[in-house]
Amino acid sequence: MFTACDIDWNARLREAATDGRTFEFGFRHTSGRWRTLETVVTDLRDEPAVGGFVLNARDITERLEMTKDLEYAATHDRLTGLPNRTRMVSELDEMLSRNAGGSTVAAICIDLDDFRDINDSLGQSTGDDVLKEVSARIKSTLSYGDNAARIGADEFAVIVERGHGEDVVLEVAETILAVLAEPFHFADRDLNLSASAGLAVDHSRDIDAESLLRNSITALHEAKREGRGRVVRFEHSMRTASSDRLELRGDLARAIGTDQLVVNYQPIVDMDTNEILGAEALVRWDHPERGRLSPALFVPLAEDSGLIGRLDAQVRAQALKDLSGWRSQIPGKQDLTVSVNLSVGELHSDDLVATVLGDLRSAGLPASALVLEVTESNLLDDSDTVRSQMESLRTQGVRLAVDDFGTGYSSLGYIDRFEFDILKIDRSFVAGLSNRTNQRIVTAVLDLASQLNAKVVAEGIETDSQRSTLLEMGCLIGQGYWFSRPVAAEQFRRLLTEAVKVGA
Ligand code: C2E
Ligand code: MG
Ligand code: MG
Repeated sequence: MFTACDIDWNARLREAATDGRTFEFGFRHTSGRWRTLETVVTDLRDEPAVGGFVLNARDITERLEMTKDLEYAATHDRLTGLPNRTRMVSELDEMLSRNAGGSTVAAICIDLDDFRDINDSLGQSTGDDVLKEVSARIKSTLSYGDNAARIGADEFAVIVERGHGEDVVLEVAETILAVLAEPFHFADRDLNLSASAGLAVDHSRDIDAESLLRNSITALHEAKREGRGRVVRFEHSMRTASSDRLELRGDLARAIGTDQLVVNYQPIVDMDTNEILGAEALVRWDHPERGRLSPALFVPLAEDSGLIGRLDAQVRAQALKDLSGWRSQIPGKQDLTVSVNLSVGELHSDDLVATVLGDLRSAGLPASALVLEVTESNLLDDSDTVRSQMESLRTQGVRLAVDDFGTGYSSLGYIDRFEFDILKIDRSFVAGLSNRTNQRIVTAVLDLASQLNAKVVAEGIETDSQRSTLLEMGCLIGQGYWFSRPVAAEQFRRLLTEAVKVGA
């Protein structure tokens, strides 16, 4: 079946058999394609019945390809092919650490003015074309060593290093705005766009990439406020955003333990029958002055300030209490489960397992009623505490899900190190299902999951066609606005009892 390529077999085999490591071989398949085999060699030359080396090999070609696809997907914007925010921050970090003080490193953040109007009036596909053209124009202004990234829907960032001070950097930003002000020709008409930019430079030698980027975004907001179409340089007096965060942090510390924190539930559904299998518990904060706040705003704040453990414990206890009510009061719902998100900090705390088991006991529920969702990036932390916590949770019967799979990628190596029960495919792959790479990734994820005996849940299903495409691909469980938005506990109970059909 395979034709071996040209290597010194004897030497390689002896070496591999001695130290017992796995190693990779490239083979050319008779179809002409190269395959990669991961191989273990055992030296049985002294066994009379064998009298040679025994090779145990498995074909890991698909897996390597998926690794490459995932790495690209996690670090690049699919529409424009530019690096994404994560990638840009690491490039900026490198640039800053290389700079010994001789030159100026700057982050320029650029945002199109009124881009939403284009999407609304000319449709998303024209909007996408505009964004591609914008990225090409921005790139055309860059010099060797500069880098551009797409960091938001219509937000781009450029990082540059110049030897001649700040004014040169300002010129870069002005040139970008000038090329973006040239008319665009789309959908048989001329479009005039303008953009605003915020600029921040590394005055202080110890500034990190995140802070520099944040400063440029603060300056960008200032530019928008001042009337758009202009560049504004960051100044420290603009730093109201950070004092805002401080105030919010204080409020959050006081809100935990009160009913300002509300748990909503989003159904997790058997996509074939539309039956609700469980719910994901998602926290909201009813802030007394600011109104309802989304977890995207305050969960990172809770993580940074050490409040997340208490916040998650409150959500978990509430979710288990609600679940216990639904299981005991609604006929036919004895197997319903609840999924609760777990932040990275908690996996480091020694009493996590005891706390979770205590919560289950108080609610009178078996461990199998609970799924803990851990985002992929958190799993990359491979410390012993994290691993042993996860193992003992699973030994006790609690199931673990890898959340937002495909976004936190840095190495698929962790997949073998942890045992888990569910993979949740990130919604960006579902949104981009029409794209071939995304389809390949989803197929590969389904494949990988079946090898690992894990179930797959697709997140962020918004249309019936996404639902049916996923079903055809063999993904049976889903979650998303198409079935239901996250709803209050009472409303979720109605979805369960009144046989209100999710979807459609
Ligand atoms: P997640 O765990 O991946 O949760 C799914 C998010 O996707 C939810 O956002 C949900 O409302 C949203 N979503 C669901 N279906 C769709 C859809 O069809 N389209 C779109 N565009 N979005 C959809 P939400 O509630 O804003 O939560 C955001 C994130 O905040 C969660 O992402 C989770 O990482 C975190 N989070 C939420 N509650 C908690 C919590 O109690 N503790 C912790 N540590 N994190 C939480
Ligand atoms: Mg989740
Ligand atoms: Mg998710």
